Amino acid sequence: MIADRLKMIADTLPTDVTLIAVSKTHPVEAIAEAYAAGERRFGESRPQELKAKYESLPKDIEWHFIGHLQTNKVKYIAPFTHLIHSVDSVRLLEAINSEAAKIGRFIKVLLEVHIADEGTKFGWDPDELRAFIRAAEHKKFPYIIYEGLMGMATFSDDKTKVGSEFRVLKNLYNELKSTDMPQFSTLSMGMSEDYETAIAEGSNMVRIGSAIFGNR
Ligand SMILES: *Cc1c(COP(=O)(O)O)cnc(C)c1O
Repeated sequence: MIADRLKMIADTLPTDVTLIAVSKTHPVEAIAEAYAAGERRFGESRPQELKAKYESLPKDIEWHFIGHLQTNKVKYIAPFTHLIHSVDSVRLLEAINSEAAKIGRFIKVLLEVHIADEGTKFGWDPDELRAFIRAAEHKKFPYIIYEGLMGMATFSDDKTKVGSEFRVLKNLYNELKSTDMPQFSTLSMGMSEDYETAIAEGSNMVRIGSAIFGNR
């Protein structure tokens, strides 16, 4: 079942779009099934759950942290996480940087931007993020590698609305990439319900859970 759904989705994705299989709340057996089908990138949203799964599964898995991260939990995931998608504050950047310095590991992050009109309260306001980067504040964290942006659209059937929210993020990504952040390579947007719209608007990384693993 998982293998079939995975293949169906993977077959429809353009080759320059990276799939993250969001396995949060699902047991290690489900991840092992996807792993056997060839998937190597998984997304989790709780630090201790991610750490436990990391410890019991093959070490060539690339783990992506996608949930809200509290500063006191950075230590659980800092040693091995491939990319943290959900960096939504200066305080969290400070915490990740200091943990990274402690263990001597550079950590890749995406800055989460608030683009929806409801749902999650998390993420930078676009103007706040512009100001932060213009002021070169991001350079205070030498152990952080800034890879790009992440965002979640409003949960809605209105594709025009969802598309226009993704477009805001894509435009901000292009703006920052062409000015202060030329190293940006990753625009993480799109989930089970809206990934096709996200790809049409320029996403190059989609985070898909229920369409692969079933409902949580
Ligand atoms: C749970 C989650 C997903 C996956 O959601 P699905 O609707 O199951 O595809 C993607 N991104 C984030 C940030 C999530 O928390």
